[in-house]
Amino acid sequence: MDIVKGNMGWIEVVCGPMFSGKSEELIRRLRRAEIARQRVQIFKPALDQRYAESEIVSHSDLRIPADLVASGAEILDKIDARTEVIGIDEAQFLGAELVEVAQKLADMGKRVIVAGLDTDYLGRPFEPVPLLMTVAEEVTKLLAICVRCGNPAKHTQRLVASEERILVGAGGMYEARCRRCFEPLAAAASADKDKEKNRKANPSPR
Ligand code: ADP
Ligand code: ZN
Repeated sequence: MDIVKGNMGWIEVVCGPMFSGKSEELIRRLRRAEIARQRVQIFKPALDQRYAESEIVSHSDLRIPADLVASGAEILDKIDARTEVIGIDEAQFLGAELVEVAQKLADMGKRVIVAGLDTDYLGRPFEPVPLLMTVAEEVTKLLAICVRCGNPAKHTQRLVASEERILVGAGGMYEARCRRCFEPLAAAASADKDKEKNRKANPSPR
């Protein structure tokens, strides 16, 4: 964002699939704000504890301290009035209320940078990120590299059987895939197969 006068706030969204560099980009923007001696607060959902308890950690091991929150509303509670820049990672786990929270913060004159998945493991819009994109001043959509063919990848391929929309991934549960290599039904189909196996192993009593 350039040429901003007065203390106008705004919303920036950084979206894309897993491994596309969302956390790296978020950390880069927050570091630069800190270098400019701005007051920065950083949040991530308590749900995602893949790596460190109170840090955002990228797949390339960049790190920045973050406060854990259970909901979007908790961000509002924890905001210091003097804060100028707010970073939020893994927005897809913070629910629909995050849109209103981000709007409130921007209306208060704060720069709000939100990173998160824009689509789920079936390639469907993953709220609240798509809604945040519509209310944002600036949207950056990043792509990963398809692990199958090396093309730009916009999808997060789930590699384990589950139909849960939210399945917090340890290593090896997800990979980046391009449009051609993405197999959205593979995770759902293997989940069906598992159910079938369980049904045969434990037939329901009549
Ligand atoms: P995100 O937050 O979008 O999941 P990160 O910022 O945590 O992404 O990680 C991005 C880094 O992941 C890249 O800079 C690269 O080092 C690494 N990486 C691993 N696999 C891939 C891939 N398939 N495509 C692109 N980057 C990858
Ligand atoms: Zn591919």
